[in-house]
Formats: sequence, structure tokens, C-alpha cells
Amino acid sequence: MKMKNDYKAFAFDLDGTLAVSKSALSEEVSQFLCKLLSKGKSVMIISGGWMPQFEKQFLANFKCPKKNLKRLYLMPTSGAVMYFYDGEKWDKKYEHKIPKEDVQMISNAFDSILSKLSFKMPKENIWGEQFENRITQISYSALGQQAPIEEKEKWDSNDLKKAEMVKLLVPMLPKYTVKSGGTTTIDVTLKGVDKGFGMEQFLKESGFKKEEVLFTGDRLYEGGNDYAVVRTGVDTCEVDNPRDMLHKLSKFVD
Ligand SMILES: [Mg+2]
Repeated sequence: MKMKNDYKAFAFDLDGTLAVSKSALSEEVSQFLCKLLSKGKSVMIISGGWMPQFEKQFLANFKCPKKNLKRLYLMPTSGAVMYFYDGEKWDKKYEHKIPKEDVQMISNAFDSILSKLSFKMPKENIWGEQFENRITQISYSALGQQAPIEEKEKWDSNDLKKAEMVKLLVPMLPKYTVKSGGTTTIDVTLKGVDKGFGMEQFLKESGFKKEEVLFTGDRLYEGGNDYAVVRTGVDTCEVDNPRDMLHKLSKFVD
């Protein structure tokens, strides 16, 4: 981790970095982000989650004057889509959709690997849908979309189950990028779409140079879902959780 004294833009992972997984943004983090924006900094948030998740988890709990929102960029589904605030509503800058005819094919690929796994996929104790079409991403959550965080953390604590699934799926879906998403989730996006792609799109759309941007995430280690950002050459800051993020970055709003 190397940090300069200041940056023009601050990019963040959402789950585990700005908020506890799938939980609401805290008031402290909301205040911190609003302070960055009101100081004239740009803020970008990128996640494997899709826009409805950003709305529920982030926007519903983010308290900041509207005039500051023009410097806020939201990048759901690893940056396959980019949203900006047009003064009244959130509008799309671009969107890379999964073709409709491929959705069933991707679903079938998941079904076909179940019998080849070295472990049994849970059939009972599922919380909500496992398979979710997020338009720009297909996501498979082993325990269901609404599984409690304690259960999710127990299921694949060393990331081996997800890695095994990804290994089987990759050759079946050559037009797609298949990667471990959240704690129990496998994400499928168009080839090349990952958080590194998202960061490259952000640099292109915002006009910032990579030296002017700091990315903060909780899974920046190799194999983690933030690792793809490292190849873009922006400075990175690894944190354990939202509290740690505030601890390490609060100096930028003092
Ligand atoms: Mg994270």
C-alpha cells in the first residue's frame, strides 16, 4: 500500500469497504463520502452488485446535498454499467448488457457443473433465489440472495468452493468472464468486464489520470474481487472493513 498526500478522485469497493456486506451504509461513512465530495473530490463506487442493490444499500442511506452529486459515479456489476447524476435522477453513461439469448445458456452451464463438484451444493436452507439476472451480469449465490451473513461466511471461508466452480465454468462460457464475486457468489459478465475494466472506464469518462486516483477495497489480494484494479496502476489501499476504511482515509477530509 502506497498513498500520496492527496488525490483528485477516490474510488471504493462497496461491500466490506464502505458498508458491511449487503447492509446499509452507516452515517459515519455517509458523512465521510459527502465531505470528500464537498471538498471538490470525485468519488466512484464499484461493486459486483447491481443498481437496485446500490439504491437500497447506498443511495437510500447517503445524505449529501444534491449539488455535490455531480462528482459521484456509480459502477454496478463491476463497471459493466456506469451511472451519473444528471441533476434530477441517475442516468446511464453506458451499459454492456448480457444478450437475452445467452441468459438460459449461462443458467444451464451452472446446472451442468453441480454433479461434477467435489462438494454437495446445498439444496435446503436456501434464502431467496440463487440465480439472478442483473441485466449486465448474471449472478449465482450458492445460499440464495438473502442468506444471512454468518451463514455465507461459513460456507466458503477459504474461497475454494467458488474457485472450483469457476474452473469448471470458464471453458463452458468462452464469451464471458466468470469470477468469484461476493462471499458465496459467482458473477458472469461479458468477457473482460471486471473491476479493472470498471476503473479503466472511470478514467476514460472522468478524464482523471491514474496518478490522481486512489482505490480502496477489502479484497485487493491476488484472487480477491478487487485485485483486477491493481493492473490499472492506480494507487490502492487495502482495508479490513468500513471502520478500518474510515481510520485509514479520514486524513483526506481533515
Ligand atoms: Mg468487497
